[in-house]
Amino acid sequence: MNIPYRDLSVDDITLKNKLLNAVEKVLDHGRIILGPEVERFEQEIARSCQVDFAVGVGSGTDALYLALRSLGVGPGDEVITTPLSWIATTNAIALCGAKPVFVDIGDDLNINPDLIEEAISAKTKVLLPVHFTGKMCEIEKIVSMAQQHDIYVVEDAAQSFGASRQGILAGQASHLGCFSMNPMKVLGAYGEAGAITTNNHALYQKLVSLRYAGTINKEDCHTPSINGRIDTVQAAMLLVALKYFPEKIKRLREIAHYYNDVLHGIVECPEDDDGFQVYYSYTILTDLRDKLMDYLLSKKIETKIQHPILMPYHKAYLHLPKPVIPVAEKQVKRLLCIPNHEKLKDTEVEYIASTVKKFFR
Ligand SMILES: *Cc1c(COP(=O)(O)O)cnc(C)c1O
Repeated sequence: MNIPYRDLSVDDITLKNKLLNAVEKVLDHGRIILGPEVERFEQEIARSCQVDFAVGVGSGTDALYLALRSLGVGPGDEVITTPLSWIATTNAIALCGAKPVFVDIGDDLNINPDLIEEAISAKTKVLLPVHFTGKMCEIEKIVSMAQQHDIYVVEDAAQSFGASRQGILAGQASHLGCFSMNPMKVLGAYGEAGAITTNNHALYQKLVSLRYAGTINKEDCHTPSINGRIDTVQAAMLLVALKYFPEKIKRLREIAHYYNDVLHGIVECPEDDDGFQVYYSYTILTDLRDKLMDYLLSKKIETKIQHPILMPYHKAYLHLPKPVIPVAEKQVKRLLCIPNHEKLKDTEVEYIASTVKKFFR
């Protein structure tokens, strides 16, 4: 058995035909830039996240950058975030000219809300939590804290489309929810894509302008910005992927629950006690992480460390004040993502779990 961490090829013939059909329709009508599929995609995303508006953008990075720009984040501002995420989270802050401030994580690998208060300063403009691994952070606490301080909340929900907690969906409760639909993500396109959700009409209008070179009516530029539009072809394919999404998440959760049952007590498994997790990754924690990773690779099971370098410790950010993040520093050496994707057969899932068990015996 040779088990890749992910397999992005499309071998389901029905799915493949639906995707090809969707692309063909775009080629036929020829409205390649912001075509009708983009609007339909935005409506579907807004409906799924139970918000009033969604804006399709070029990537998750675009989503984060444009979301912060729409709030006017710039030089002199501070944005509070977690140290444990893909570097795009911090890059978005830095690209706006603002300063990232890192608050340590808790046992769920998400930002620890109890530590946020002391990190808030007069310069803090936004709280930017990440719903890491597909499990929501304690968003309700973070939103109410932001209300008390009269600052904004932007969710990095790149890994968590469809996740919820206490009846709140990812991207629903904050000012702006940022999603990545890159092919690795739970709702994946077949190229780069992203979306931003909001209930605020003024922010929605700003985002529509900001993704189109900062123009009004696609002509007169009011503020410098990027080309952050989503491709119509990707929107069309995402409309197909959305149809398959509930089934896919059901399978990811089924595999995760199987791992939880078998690996419980052997490694630290993701807790599944509060909310609905979408398991973008199935991330275990163990002191023997590196040895386990090598062992699994020798048994032809590919795993991943997401992410091996904490964001403040990337070379680009070493000039910032050293953050106090002991939990993140400890857990980043212990975490390992084992394969969890909808193409895994039961026999493969059993093989992965039994191989992990065998390593510890
Ligand atoms: C993937 C990801 C991003 C960036 O999304 P892209 O579409 O790759 O630009 C941002 N934040 C997190 C947490 C991610 O996982």
